[in-house]
Amino acid sequence: KISKRLQQISALIPKASRIADIGSDHAFVPIMAVETGCSSFAIASEVAPGPLGISQQNIQAAGLSDKIQTRLGDGLAAIQVEDRIDTFIIAGMGGELIVHILAAADPALLKATHLILEPNNNEAMVRRWLDQHGFIIQQEKILLEDQHFYEMIRAQHTGANPSLTSEEQLFGPKLQQAQTADFKAKWQHRQRVNQKIVAQLKAAPQPDVVKITEMTEMTNLIERMLR
Ligand code: SAM
Repeated sequence: KISKRLQQISALIPKASRIADIGSDHAFVPIMAVETGCSSFAIASEVAPGPLGISQQNIQAAGLSDKIQTRLGDGLAAIQVEDRIDTFIIAGMGGELIVHILAAADPALLKATHLILEPNNNEAMVRRWLDQHGFIIQQEKILLEDQHFYEMIRAQHTGANPSLTSEEQLFGPKLQQAQTADFKAKWQHRQRVNQKIVAQLKAAPQPDVVKITEMTEMTNLIERMLR
């Protein structure tokens, strides 16, 4: 059974798209997108041969080898402009790695595309990169599954100027508007964790003032948002 996380990621894919799933592993997302008729063409790309082999097995078992290609490569290096990919999916990795992959990509590949991103952490870093590189955030989702809060972001490259506030980078502009139960639960939980960390930092023999200030600022932002 496909996880709710992967189902929600798939639900963000635009209709009639040509997708590339970077770090595809099992290739469940491209398989679902092509099977449902959402995407007409897909590439499942992997940096590691092991997961690429699993992708290939699953694609073959689904009888979709003619519609889903597999590629071995680091990030977007395995994708060419000629593939005419209009939607990139990068999911299930740390936010820092997602930003690294996007920053290393040929900008010509990203022009006018949609990105569907699901960073497992450091979501603010991902939103900041998007905002500073001409992407606007169109849709966001948050989901609690297996005791982890997953955030999903759909962005489109429009060449727009940066516009997100630091609050929007942290909480997500759309998530902040929607204020779902999972959203509130995530930040209530984070607030409790942060308060413990600040107390520990302050009790240290040589308190790290920079870290304490940073954490306190975040705690204040969360407090204001939850009010
Ligand atoms: N995207 C799938 C998902 O969300 O369920 C799989 C996530 S899996 C935890 C992360 C995958 O990303 C691994 O299979 C790993 O080999 C791949 N990966 C890591 N760094 C990568 C890179 N620079 N380029 C392509 N794939 C990468």
